Amino acid sequence: MALRKIIKIDEEKCNGCGLCVSPCVESAIAIIDGKARVISEELCDGAGFCLNVCPTGALTIEEREAAPFNEQAVIEHKRKLKADSCVFCGNTQYDAPILEYRYKGETKHVCVRCLPALIHG
Ligand code: SF4
Ligand SMILES: [Zn+2]
Repeated sequence: MALRKIIKIDEEKCNGCGLCVSPCVESAIAIIDGKARVISEELCDGAGFCLNVCPTGALTIEEREAAPFNEQAVIEHKRKLKADSCVFCGNTQYDAPILEYRYKGETKHVCVRCLPALIHG
């Protein structure tokens, strides 16, 4: 643990709009159960690019004891997100449920929104 800057999300104020998800270059924020959440402390560098996009003022930066920022963990997290995302629309597990399927010996992923198109062609 280290004393450092990290994002703070006010759950009361967050309306789950999701606007803060894409400005985060580390993909550290996801909407889980209708609220923005930091997936893992080590993914948040505390840079605060997400702050200004929040329409409700739910995001602030605080200084507290937290797991140190881990660039390697970010690389691995983003690699896994991409590898497991929907081959059709790019949705990740945080956007929609993702199913795994096999095609021509390869493992692929499809989100439930694109599943009908996969089945019916
Ligand atoms: S932008 Fe603000 S209100 Fe919207 S999901 Fe993020 S924290 Fe919540
Ligand atoms: Zn999809």
